[in-house]
Amino acid sequence: MSRETPPMGVLATAQAIARGEQSAEAATRAALDAADAHADLGAFVELDADGALETARAVDAARARGEALGPLAGVPISLKDNIAARDWALSAGSRMLAGYRSPFDATVTERLRAAGAVLLGRVNMDEFGMGSATTTGVAGPARNPWDAERVAGGSSGGSAVAVAIGAGAASLGTDTGGSVRLPAALCGVVGLKPTYGRVSRYGVVAYASSLEQVGVLARDVDGAAAVLAAISGACPLDATAAPLPPFSPRSSDGADAAGLRIGVPEGFVDKARAADPAVAEAIDAALAGLRDAGATLVPVRLEELDAAVAAYYVIATAEASTNLSRYDGVRYGHRTSETGLGLGELIARSRTESFGDEVQRRILLGTFALSAGYHDAFYARAGQVRRKLANAVAGAWDDCDVLAMPTSPVRAWRLDQRFDDPTAVYAMDVFTVLANLCGLPALSVPVRSAGDAMPIGLQFMAPAFEEATLVRAGRAVQAWRGALPMPTGGPR
Ligand code: GLN
Repeated sequence: MSRETPPMGVLATAQAIARGEQSAEAATRAALDAADAHADLGAFVELDADGALETARAVDAARARGEALGPLAGVPISLKDNIAARDWALSAGSRMLAGYRSPFDATVTERLRAAGAVLLGRVNMDEFGMGSATTTGVAGPARNPWDAERVAGGSSGGSAVAVAIGAGAASLGTDTGGSVRLPAALCGVVGLKPTYGRVSRYGVVAYASSLEQVGVLARDVDGAAAVLAAISGACPLDATAAPLPPFSPRSSDGADAAGLRIGVPEGFVDKARAADPAVAEAIDAALAGLRDAGATLVPVRLEELDAAVAAYYVIATAEASTNLSRYDGVRYGHRTSETGLGLGELIARSRTESFGDEVQRRILLGTFALSAGYHDAFYARAGQVRRKLANAVAGAWDDCDVLAMPTSPVRAWRLDQRFDDPTAVYAMDVFTVLANLCGLPALSVPVRSAGDAMPIGLQFMAPAFEEATLVRAGRAVQAWRGALPMPTGGPR
């Protein structure tokens, strides 16, 4: 499918609806049509066309009555399949949750509704968010819209594909170690992972509680910021949500690079150069462009990067092994209660039948890392590495406003590429886990996806609760880069 006009972003859609230039119903139909036209890419697990059209018509009716509209009124948005929406199924990509329907809204879902957003449906993900490619979920893989034989990135791959093909102006994902930014980079859209505590996690299926945040995938930086504004802020139902007012992006935050101090950690781009020279070239070009536009590039030393992935996988699997213990086959999953098995056998049977291989591997790893005798060698040590990294990054803020690095060391890899060693896939997270370990906000912005080149993302990290600085840096990249073509979908 090719398009005369590219799909609109969050702000353009909201504005067109508010001004009566387009109805919410038309915007919603366009999003649903795009989802149908590209159904082969596996972005959606389930569309709620009737519910979405009903919400859209209600927005149009409210506007016709002259009522004040919410900031996202009529904007079609999808939800990763680990974020609860009342009366929708919720699977987190797992057989374990087959048949489950949510009786309630997650706080972020409720806030999207309150802002007037049209909820399109549930999008594809890796099982429980464990993965970097969106290949481990029960719904099958998500495919990259630039080349359907390549991965979309993960674990929020469905979100990235949906946004890239225009099936909604934005999507909510979750980011435990890069799951919003990595697919955003590989699919050529913007991915914003907020500061730990910026957004409530109430009603979000837990993976690793000290690392994860709900984040936003959108077509442009301001669209992502507008959605973050709607979903962020204190929440009485989540004690880890910071008692702060919602994020509020301002046009006065600036869009130009002039005066921006960009920390460039030594060796990071070279690491990407070794894995995929095209990534390094694109990042180098973007940084040079920002420097020419008035930014200062500040060399920074951050030596513990390799330890970051190891520490991340110890902490993430340890927390996952605890969080996933609630899936015991009694409350969720196969109703093994009729089998006449004892409780221990029932739990064991239900787990091996209902969890996929990667999830079982993570539970084993995490349980091992926490077990008596190994706790100090692994979990406690990972905590030390985490503190060291946080201190090293904190030291950088004296000299720079943001840190810049690639989002992914490589462009989207082929779906049929076999990784014999799971750590080869874990290594894709080398540049993203840092922000999660340190609780910091980070943004991935596309820097090049012209011609037949696969998309590449530039990542910025900022101090805690400084999302406004990320928005400024992201706007500067967009200003330097100009408009990028969007995918037309389908294998090429
Ligand atoms: N790829 C990482 C993991 O598998 C990150 C996933 C995520 O951010 N949810 O743990």
